[in-house]
Amino acid sequence: ARIPLVAGNWKMNFDHLEATYFVQKLAWLLRDAHFDFKRCEVTLMPSFTSLRSVQVLVQADKLKITYGAQSVSVTNQGAFTGDVSADMLARLGCSYVIVGHSERRKYHPEDDANIVDQVRAVLTAGMQPILCVGESMQERRKGIALDYAVGQVHDVTRDLSDEEASRLVIAYEPVWAIGTGLVATPQNAQDAALAIRNDLTESFGSDVAQSVRILYGGSVSSRNAVELISEPDVDGFLIGGASLDPEELAKICRLT
Ligand code: 13P
Repeated sequence: ARIPLVAGNWKMNFDHLEATYFVQKLAWLLRDAHFDFKRCEVTLMPSFTSLRSVQVLVQADKLKITYGAQSVSVTNQGAFTGDVSADMLARLGCSYVIVGHSERRKYHPEDDANIVDQVRAVLTAGMQPILCVGESMQERRKGIALDYAVGQVHDVTRDLSDEEASRLVIAYEPVWAIGTGLVATPQNAQDAALAIRNDLTESFGSDVAQSVRILYGGSVSSRNAVELISEPDVDGFLIGGASLDPEELAKICRLT
């Protein structure tokens, strides 16, 4: 069975002091609630500048919370001003790296070729990519939402080995649901997750497809988490806004 994953994508919020305070508070809230990390994994994606502080705290207090980064360079070292390599992130104890978030695709821009290389870099460094896919309102209106999201997964994963594919996490995040308060219906989320899993089955076989966690992201909160996680192919959440409040995030963790 797949262990659900609750991933907090902080985006460009919190300096390293705020990050440290947040992690302590979340750990305290979860401890108080006798939260079982074997039942559900909790991971946080701070800014690069906070990763070292989070690592020190997690090690010192032996916390079961894991953490990761929001993006990564496709190259490993050299003259790439401003970039951060996958090895650097692995050395900081990162478990995950978000790859291909719609905000990165839009503002940087990252195309499929670049996203393929990021996935490869993350896997080579021994971490797990959280590959983000999802349609915009335009595709949804045209009735091609599922094909679009599945196509994004397919294009990025097609050259991976079975072993590499088994280490993927995929986040279905419809762009129209991100930061809008418009959450996908549980049925929408399930349909997309199942369509993605079926594509993984075709490419890598059923063992791999059944082991890959598929998250839903987009306006997740403690008000909609239960319905969404009840769907058989939704294995957790990638959370933006609601991950910035420790009480709310702890609540979602308990409900997942
Ligand atoms: P919101 O939860 O704020 O809608 O953001 C979702 C997201 O983009 C997570 O990566």
